[in-house]
Amino acid sequence: MIGAGFAGLVAARQLVFMGFKVVILEGRTRPGGRVKTKKMSGDGVEAAADFGGSVLTGINGNPLGVLARQLGLPLHKVRDICPLYLPDGRSVDPEVDSRVEVSFNKLLERVCKLRQAMIEEVKSVDVPLGTALEAFRRVYKVAEDKEERMLLNWHLANLEYANATLMSNLSMAYWDQDDPYEMGGDHCFIPGGNETFVRALAEDLPIFYGRTVECVKYGSDGVAVSAGGMEFRGDMVLCTVPLGVLKKGDIEFIPELPQRKKDAIRRLGFGLLNKVAMLFPYNFWGGDIDTFGHLTEDLSMRGEFFLFYSYSSVSGGPLLVALVAGEAAIRFEMMSPVESVKRVLDILKDIFNPKGIVVPEPVQAVCTRWGKDHFAYGSYSYVAVGSSGDDYDILAESVGNGRVFFAGEATSKQYPATMHGAFLSGMREAANILRMAKRRSSIPDTSRSNTQEDDDLHKLFLKPDMAFGSFSALYDPKLNDLDSSSLLRVKIGGAGNLYLYALISKKRVIELSQVEGDENRMRILNRNFGVSLVGRKGLSGAAESLIGSIKLSRHNFDAVDNS
Ligand SMILES: Cc1cc2nc3c(=O)[nH]c(=O)nc-3n(C[C@H](O)[C@H](O)[C@H](O)COP(=O)(O)OP(=O)(O)OC[C@H]3O[C@@H](n4cnc5c(N)ncnc54)[C@H](O)[C@@H]3O)c2cc1C
Repeated sequence: MIGAGFAGLVAARQLVFMGFKVVILEGRTRPGGRVKTKKMSGDGVEAAADFGGSVLTGINGNPLGVLARQLGLPLHKVRDICPLYLPDGRSVDPEVDSRVEVSFNKLLERVCKLRQAMIEEVKSVDVPLGTALEAFRRVYKVAEDKEERMLLNWHLANLEYANATLMSNLSMAYWDQDDPYEMGGDHCFIPGGNETFVRALAEDLPIFYGRTVECVKYGSDGVAVSAGGMEFRGDMVLCTVPLGVLKKGDIEFIPELPQRKKDAIRRLGFGLLNKVAMLFPYNFWGGDIDTFGHLTEDLSMRGEFFLFYSYSSVSGGPLLVALVAGEAAIRFEMMSPVESVKRVLDILKDIFNPKGIVVPEPVQAVCTRWGKDHFAYGSYSYVAVGSSGDDYDILAESVGNGRVFFAGEATSKQYPATMHGAFLSGMREAANILRMAKRRSSIPDTSRSNTQEDDDLHKLFLKPDMAFGSFSALYDPKLNDLDSSSLLRVKIGGAGNLYLYALISKKRVIELSQVEGDENRMRILNRNFGVSLVGRKGLSGAAESLIGSIKLSRHNFDAVDNS
């Protein structure tokens, strides 16, 4: 499994449950991927902030809603009220607000009619959604006065947020191809953040952190995945890395991915959304709302802090998160965090000072940089001009005759760009892997999943010569010196009882036993000793002959003992 985001974690859980032996290789030092909750604190206040995926967008039929119920987590409905403020802090006139909203929806309807006609006439022509909307706006003279124009731009910023990209990049023909599948019901937050999901999903799974996959080789005899100087062999691999990572080409596939897949990776868009999370000494914006918006005159910066989420009721403290979408999200990554926080505070002061409310300095503020993140290179996928929903399906196709599988939000045509889309794609691929294993008639039988060889080795390790943490070792019974070879065994994760092995000197076993903690031992084993762990099948001839000698000596010993 490559990647411990929602897709990878869910697929791994399913596969372990079905009796497969699974390891997850994760480049980061934590699970969750684009779902990241961080505790912010200072001056006696603290709160849990979601820097990535946050809102459960529609609770009806959402697997995360089911998971929340199973975990006994309460859901907090994001309230619909979203007051909008003009740059000088005045509230937007509700009448103008609803008039512009109606006009905006009408513009979208007109674009829909146009695309219907275009699809019927000339099947493959596409233009940016932004271009079409602006053309209709001019023709129908929509939002010509300053306040109306700012409001229209706010709605456009909201679309740029939902799609994580500029209107000029979105496909007019297919940008909303997933609309028919939208989950109904309330939008919700999980109190304490989505980390609770991550923790529950990652529990007991064999995850190797800090293992950035560089190469995936696949062929008729299986797969070999290289990560940080180690090679992992398996029957199949599931790749769940973000589309941004696939676009960047950070993972080399040997043989190369089929052209059809490479074209889909190129066509589909991967956009950017950023956040500024600010923990304040107290809530100055009021407790009865979850969102409020801010309008700007500068069209190119319409997405900069256009929407604020209040997490006061769910995060444990007075936390405000400002969103940065569209062009502003790109510029934001080039700005210093100090400058960015100053700009948000200026906006908040413009809104609240005229009401006689003093905006305090935040006790802590964090600016996300999803575009610069080497394990994502952006936030989530969108349908770019020239692409379509079919590209999500192509991204989901397995390659190498059922050796390399793909999951993740960008493989979900129905629910792209969401946490539940990632979750469901993991379930889908676990089922596909099972189907393929069955077709190869190598279904792991949970009751008899160990081979005779595994059983024999397991019996030897019931009486190890040395055991510490998840490590145990068998010494060479014929030699007693420190340079003699030993068979080291490491238990990975809790579920699934996965064991990996290495042949190392007795001296190194002793050295390892003197190190505190499994994580440090693994680090020393990999970095200092340069040792790679392998599965039972990957053991060298020397290791097999050592196992043979140990078996023989134990047998002789048992024979003597029994006599
Ligand atoms: C700012 C932001 C806000 C969002 N808001 C919402 C929201 O409100 N609601 C919602 O439903 N969704 C939201 N999303 C989207 C949602 O978070 C994602 O769709 C979902 O988490 C993706 O899960 P995934 O498993 O597909 O990918 P990821 O979570 O990205 O998991 C992929 C994993 O692969 C790892 N990886 C990458 N490269 C390598 C490599 N070479 N070797 C090993 N490991 C590697 C990564 O570190 C990562 O852990 C948001 C996302 C962002 C960034």
